[in-house]
Amino acid sequence: MSEQSLKLRMPVRSPEPGWIRLERDHALFQQLVDTHVVRTAMEQVEGGSGQVLLAEKRRQLAASLRITPSVSPYLHKVLEAVRKLLRLEQAVELYVTPSPVINAFCMPLPDGKGLLVVVTSAAVDLFSRAELLFLMGHELGHGILGHHRLPGSALLNPSDDSLRLGFDEVMKLLCWMRAAEISADRYGLICCQDPSIATRSFLKLASGLPGQYLGTGEDFDDQMDDWAKHRIAGEGMDETHPLLPIRVRCAHAFAESDYFVELFGAGEAPPRLSMEGADEACHAELTQMDADPSHIDSLDYAEEVMGFLSLAGFLLAASDDHVGTVEYHWLTQLVGRDLAERARAFAGEAGYEAYCREIFALGAGIADDLDRAGCMKLLQEIGIIAVVDGHVHPNELASLRMIGEALRLPSHLIDVAAKDLGRGEDRRLRLGA
Ligand SMILES: [Zn+2]
Repeated sequence: MSEQSLKLRMPVRSPEPGWIRLERDHALFQQLVDTHVVRTAMEQVEGGSGQVLLAEKRRQLAASLRITPSVSPYLHKVLEAVRKLLRLEQAVELYVTPSPVINAFCMPLPDGKGLLVVVTSAAVDLFSRAELLFLMGHELGHGILGHHRLPGSALLNPSDDSLRLGFDEVMKLLCWMRAAEISADRYGLICCQDPSIATRSFLKLASGLPGQYLGTGEDFDDQMDDWAKHRIAGEGMDETHPLLPIRVRCAHAFAESDYFVELFGAGEAPPRLSMEGADEACHAELTQMDADPSHIDSLDYAEEVMGFLSLAGFLLAASDDHVGTVEYHWLTQLVGRDLAERARAFAGEAGYEAYCREIFALGAGIADDLDRAGCMKLLQEIGIIAVVDGHVHPNELASLRMIGEALRLPSHLIDVAAKDLGRGEDRRLRLGA
């Protein structure tokens, strides 16, 4: 659908969060809220005083542009259209912040009586009006569903041990965060009313390109299939957002559901799916990124290589001051419990320098036997240990470099592996908290 032909239809009734919210989002949210650590984090953020929110609002007031009808009649109208479509009665403050990266987020106003949305200048510049309806609908959807109540990033990067989750809970949190994005996308779809508009926004988000270079992207899915084919063990499990092609498929499922069709007073085409069917389709898409720890494929190499990988993996796990539960769990799944424990014991006995000497000795033997591509694959497969706890510590990067050097990889290839790790962190910031 072209921008000119976009005729917005008014929903026949108020969109119902209970129907729109993905079942998986609802169920995982409840399970997480029932855990002690998550409740502690929620209390710290909500805390009753609104001071955390006030600090963020002050930051926006100082560094961004608050949208009023006179500051930007265009953006004010887009916001009003979204509010009308979602029948949102609470106050919404919209800010635009200068940034070359397409991004946005939503949080409650400090008084708890409305929502604050921040959109980057790149999003405003690159997105068409219809795509901005999708983006703002998505962000307000997060707000309406109260996703901000569960502070995901604070739990992924805990400031102290009282907020540290175990492996299963971190994975559950990430699964919930990805499901929450799909729920929010559904609000975006109610506003832009056409999954092809959502797809165009995802093409822009993926590429940073303006519309003149982009088509409709019907085969964007193939990118996903190719990713699935080439991914290394466990890649995807640590993402806070679903891969964009997954979001495209989920958007289509919702737009073809009876709920969506009936929300606009029954359309020309009968719905293809029941709402349960749409939820099931989304569930099937999302599970591709799931972190079922029993599904981590263990590595299978010759004994000498496995010995090297266990030492290298433990070094990475121990690089950010302490050996995290999640990292150690991964190591045991990748190399087996025996080898992981042997590496831990050796680290305790040998001391850092002797430990590193052993890594170099084993690495040299492997580099004699394997070609560069083989060594690179080993570095990437074990490098995952550095990201599984949700952040990459500078010491972990230094250890990764050392492991690459032990395998006699040239520095430009080690850079590739290091960038792969950093990429995981960048993506974390995309499209909203
Ligand atoms: Zn989002």
